Amino acid sequence: MYLDNAATTRVDYEILTKTLPCFLEDYGNPSSRHRMGYKAKELIEEARAKVAMSINADPEQIFFFSSATEANNYVLNLYPRIACSPWEHSSVEKKFVTGYSHFDLFSHMLVNNETGDLFDIKMLCESYHKDNTLFHTDATQAFGKVPIDVKDLNVDFLTFSGHKIHSLKGCGVLYVKDPSALPEKNTCLVGGEQEKGIHPGTENVPAIVAMGYACEKYNYDEDKDYLMNRLYDKIILKLRDSGLDYRINRIELLHVPNIINISFKDVDGETLQDMLSQQLIYVSTSSACTSGIKKSRVLSAMGVPDDYIYGSIRLSFSYADIDDPKYELRILNNIDRIIETVNKALQIARLLKGVE
Ligand code: PMP
Repeated sequence: MYLDNAATTRVDYEILTKTLPCFLEDYGNPSSRHRMGYKAKELIEEARAKVAMSINADPEQIFFFSSATEANNYVLNLYPRIACSPWEHSSVEKKFVTGYSHFDLFSHMLVNNETGDLFDIKMLCESYHKDNTLFHTDATQAFGKVPIDVKDLNVDFLTFSGHKIHSLKGCGVLYVKDPSALPEKNTCLVGGEQEKGIHPGTENVPAIVAMGYACEKYNYDEDKDYLMNRLYDKIILKLRDSGLDYRINRIELLHVPNIINISFKDVDGETLQDMLSQQLIYVSTSSACTSGIKKSRVLSAMGVPDDYIYGSIRLSFSYADIDDPKYELRILNNIDRIIETVNKALQIARLLKGVE
């Protein structure tokens, strides 16, 4: 069972079907001065309007990139003095510049991809604005999980990605509060005038069109939120009854319900992940982008103790399936199997310790 929806999601079948004409009929280049080009351009503008509407922005404030990583990099390359929270995604964290007393831009994610922590971005943004520091939020894990209103948040930049919301890979969105303040050209990518020169290169029309539909279909929905929270509570009850020594990794009171990061004491997370993978249960140890690094930078920054940190797994669930009662049942059955597997991993660890 796929329990790694924070890494990526299955493409929604209805969205895929609506996108197919862009591959087969309306496949013109949006820059071409003929009917097929105009049609492709029109499809992009329709998608832009849908994306804008979903976050209460204007279409002129929306720019399409190839991923959230690219959109994040574009924003962070605009300014020389930038800072970020210690739990940012690698696409933000690696750009972090230290040694300044004042920053041009501060970046803080809306929802953390490893723990599901939901941060009070409106309040943070307000306090940075008082210092004349611009504010960017990475909403990649937040879109659809919490309502997003860019006017209310008052952020200067906001980014997110299609493949986390049942859309195609290859489309990231950048919202810009004041596009007239942007430099005329993208200084990292030299090329054509696509996306007003902000993102040169022929547009990925199918992924952009799919993004428009996904922003409509997978925007925050109270019913789905209720079902996801109910599932979350049931999982926590199962864990409580398991007798295992575990902790739920979180630092904020508020969190999204589709991500649970659990640390099992004295268990090796990667061994557990492999044992689960053999049973066709797919979870993540930290974020997929940083796997290979045993100790999660994010969990370290959040102060998770060492005897727990190595035994962390992240489970994340699908908003495309949550309305199906069988989905909840299947997940709960798989939680039982995860608990059994943790017990097995603990037995093996004890045996190995005995051998030493
Ligand atoms: N930011 C966050 C918070 C993410 O979770 C991810 C995906 N792991 C990204 C950015 C990168 O998104 P993309 O895959 O579209 O580059």
